[in-house]
Amino acid sequence: MSVADGYIALVTPYNEGCAHSVSALTGTNVNSKIHLLREYLAESERHPEMSHAVFLHAAGDARVAPFNLREGAPGETLIDVAAVGLCGSDLHYYKDGGIGSAVIAAPFVPGHEFSGWLTEDLPALGLARGSLVAVDPNQACGHCEHCREGHPNLCPEVVFIGAPPNDGAMTERIWVPTSQIVPVPQHFTPSDAVMLEPLGVAIHAVDLAKPRLLERVALLGCGPIGLLILQVLRTVGVGEILVCDPQPHRRALALKLGASKAGESVADIAKWTDGEGLPLVIEATNAPEGFRDAIRAARIGGRVVLVGIPDGDSYVVPAAETRRRGLTIKFSRRMGHVYPRAIELVALGKVDVEAVVSHRFRLDEGPEAFRRHAANEAGMVKSLIYPGDPAPRRR
Ligand SMILES: [Zn+2]
Ligand SMILES: [Zn+2]
Repeated sequence: MSVADGYIALVTPYNEGCAHSVSALTGTNVNSKIHLLREYLAESERHPEMSHAVFLHAAGDARVAPFNLREGAPGETLIDVAAVGLCGSDLHYYKDGGIGSAVIAAPFVPGHEFSGWLTEDLPALGLARGSLVAVDPNQACGHCEHCREGHPNLCPEVVFIGAPPNDGAMTERIWVPTSQIVPVPQHFTPSDAVMLEPLGVAIHAVDLAKPRLLERVALLGCGPIGLLILQVLRTVGVGEILVCDPQPHRRALALKLGASKAGESVADIAKWTDGEGLPLVIEATNAPEGFRDAIRAARIGGRVVLVGIPDGDSYVVPAAETRRRGLTIKFSRRMGHVYPRAIELVALGKVDVEAVVSHRFRLDEGPEAFRRHAANEAGMVKSLIYPGDPAPRRR
């Protein structure tokens, strides 16, 4: 059920035992929707303690439980979470219990890709209460060497919403630094706004790759990030894009979104290029072999950009093959200042973020979403969770 299809749902989160009671109302009138939204906001303000969240306790252990909303700090704004994405990095916390040194020491709430509705006016940003906004989860310190050099994504002092120990947005309401709020065009949907973060990761990867006009590109991995990279590559005028992914539904989606050829593995890319490889390779897999495969897809003297996070936090790299090719290798880490371009790509229709979203869940179905992604269930690409929407599947 959504604003977009002419329905709006009113969730009243104050019934017995925090169970949600839902009354759905129909109507296409925008004013009535805004009115309903405001009513909902007013209700939830009277009952701020009634909140739930998805908690990751350890590897393979995700639970929904009541969530005590903390007090807001100066410079923060409370937003009602509209939609939150389940990212490959969230999945790593679920599958491995951590990513490298960032481990789950205590139950935490994941979710760094999210959009929400303001619970107060923000005149400085020209935004009224009830406005849909995106949130940049990466709060860099702003004064270290790396921040000053223009790399906030590399800031060692970063506070990242949704990476332990910082609770994220898989919950109904969240306090966020007002400075991290990103206004979005009025016609954006909650899913458009939530997808700006992964799209930003894709833009950053393509920035690092510096593709040349009509250059042929190999793209390894057709998950959400890979499919967004594919679309960004199409906007910058590269030549053929040869992709590979073990899952047939992801290959099909890649072809639909503009890949020239889609194979099962890097062996197909090698075959299509007579073993020569391509001058530019972008890797967006979650496989420990992703680095090795990227090297095998690269031409002598080529460039490789690694975007994926490997399962088990280790790469497999054949030293001689890598060295003999004289490759330039870059590691992509989150993103820089990319939101304005991400917004423009979506607003202009140059990137179809909606095409990448395969599943939508309620908040109480969050653990199921993790389980199904971890099991690599066929058909799953990107899942979004809608904490305030009782029937997100109808979207
Ligand atoms: Zn992410
Ligand atoms: Zn910094």
